[in-house]
Amino acid sequence: MKGELTKTQQAFIGCVFPTPKGGALTVIAVLYKKPKVVYEFSCSICSLDLELWGSTKITSTKDNIIQGSIPCGCTTRKWNLQQKDTLVKRSCEENNLTFLGYVGGELVDSNTKVIFEDTFTGIYDDTVKVLYLLQGHTGRKLGGLKIKNHHTLSGSDVLTRLKDIIDIPEGVIIERDNNPRIVKYICPVCTQDDLPTNVFTTSINSLSKGVIPCRCNKSYVNNYKDKQHLAEKYVNVLSGYILNKETLKDNDFHKTRVLWLCKYGHKNDSSLSNLRGGSSCTSCRPKGFNKNRPAYFYIVRWYGFGESFLKYGITTRKVITRVKEQSSLSCLDYEILYEYYNPCGILVSNLEKEIKRLYKSQGVCPKRWLPSGYTETVEDTHKNLDLLKSKGSLLLDATQDPTLFKDVS
Ligand SMILES: [Zn+2]
Ligand SMILES: [Zn+2]
Ligand SMILES: [Zn+2]
Repeated sequence: MKGELTKTQQAFIGCVFPTPKGGALTVIAVLYKKPKVVYEFSCSICSLDLELWGSTKITSTKDNIIQGSIPCGCTTRKWNLQQKDTLVKRSCEENNLTFLGYVGGELVDSNTKVIFEDTFTGIYDDTVKVLYLLQGHTGRKLGGLKIKNHHTLSGSDVLTRLKDIIDIPEGVIIERDNNPRIVKYICPVCTQDDLPTNVFTTSINSLSKGVIPCRCNKSYVNNYKDKQHLAEKYVNVLSGYILNKETLKDNDFHKTRVLWLCKYGHKNDSSLSNLRGGSSCTSCRPKGFNKNRPAYFYIVRWYGFGESFLKYGITTRKVITRVKEQSSLSCLDYEILYEYYNPCGILVSNLEKEIKRLYKSQGVCPKRWLPSGYTETVEDTHKNLDLLKSKGSLLLDATQDPTLFKDVS
């Protein structure tokens, strides 16, 4: 036919048009000339799909393609019967449906109904039109469609079919629910822990997508009963009593607030996650410095942003515990230089007061760099370090220095 082409037709061959899916439609031939000139195209995407396009040509007139109508599968189009049949079977496969045939025996048009069985639920359906399947709907999504005749698979059958497509841990048991689309998932791992929820209800659909419904799934959200149990467990350890057991409703573990009384009757409002982390009654918690307990005097270097400061301080806890607390609010790095211990907290406290009087400063480190402790910072010089060290060593033989026993507060 090539020899009979006009110059314009000849020039049109090889032209390329973009498709909405990012493909390229190339004019490859003139197909026939009467009653209209019709060209054949090849699409860089669709023509690769031989099952769908192997025996169907992509055709259009010049006018139509120039006006923007796309003749290939890159846009919604009218499929022929053979293509429809292919697409119906594909849609079934993608949706885990077993294709069983067409109502009436053969595919006539888009209104023909498809017969299929849901691979997992065993639901048999012959009410969904080809039209809907091609639009991506299945019986499962079209909840309104009546299921004519469902014979459901047993839980272990569902499990076997699921195991073909997703990883299911060994020992999982699946039981059926009254609703054919829902199952009960029993996990061997989650049955072992002490939380009350051991049977996890889920849809077969989400299971078939690999969404594990138990606590083994990192994004599992503890339900109400589990939260009650956990709150009780944490508060029991503190010998306390929960006040809002019935209302621990918040879905977010971190935001769930637990109101509780400590054994001395102090009221607390803690988040479930803080309780899990071991937080205790805020009123009973030791605050500040207890002069009746043994204590440390410490010297720490805090540094960063090209600056460094010496910080002295006292604590009845371990120095590292106190310093880490300060560090959690600070943007500086630290180095613990010296620690001096004395069994008498009053001595240690008096020593700190004496040093404060010596320096008369409110701290040289900016508050925002070390919000907890900046008032006891001095310049990082040899002179200052020697002074702090010499004061600290007084504690080591403080029992010989009666002046320190005087309460100077
Ligand atoms: Zn295409
Ligand atoms: Zn589990
Ligand atoms: Zn308390």
